[in-house]
This record gives sequence, structure tokens and C-alpha cells, in this order.
Amino acid sequence: MPLTILVIEDNEQNMYLMTYLLEKNGFEVIQARQAEQGLGLAVEKRPDLILLDIQLPDMDGYTVAKKLRSDPASAGIPIIAVTSYAMLGDREKSLAAGCNAHIEKPIDPDTFLDQISGYLPQAPNDEGV
Ligand code: MN
Repeated sequence: MPLTILVIEDNEQNMYLMTYLLEKNGFEVIQARQAEQGLGLAVEKRPDLILLDIQLPDMDGYTVAKKLRSDPASAGIPIIAVTSYAMLGDREKSLAAGCNAHIEKPIDPDTFLDQISGYLPQAPNDEGV
């Protein structure tokens, strides 16, 4: 079974790029374009990882991260904040809200997979044995 990644992102270009890179590398992608929708899908689908935009139309990503952490159904899922804020302290803010890591936009296709791979569960390696 492929690992599943929930992408909560309202910007179509970023959603397209992340989805493309993830699917190309064998991940199953669940898309949410609003925070409430993402919170629902996190509990319903139990993804292996959540990529979370910080600027969403209905809620900021810090609040989303806190809600994910406070619900036992999603508390254990790794969250990576994806944000265009280049301001000092943003990384700390996302970590304080419960995110495991923070990556900055623009997404770099050459490093994106490396940036998230450390937060994914190890894929089973027993195929064909
Ligand atoms: Mn956004």
C-alpha cells in the first residue's frame, strides 16, 4: 500500500506542484483546499503525513496544527508546515503549534522529497521476499 500524504493548500500552483512530485514518487495524495476540509480528511483518512500551508482561506495553519494535535485521531500524524513567510520566528511558530518541520515556498522540486522523507514512516521493504 502506498504511503498517503494529505496536502492542505489553497494555492493551485503549489497544490499542483506538490501533488505532481509526490505522485511521481509513488505516494497517494489527498487534497484539501480549506482548513476545515483538511481537518476532516485527516481524521477520516489517517494519512501518513500532512503538508500544511500556513495561509488558508478559513483558518491559519497554526490553528490547524493545534487542532490536529488536540484530536487523538490525528495527534500522531507528522505535520510539515509549508509557508511563504520568510520571517524570522516563523519556523519556531509552526513548531510551537505542533508541526514537526517547516519548509519554505517556493517549493524546490530538486529538494522537496528530501525535505519530507525524514518525516515519513519507513516503507515496508519485504516485497518479493
Ligand atoms: Mn495559502
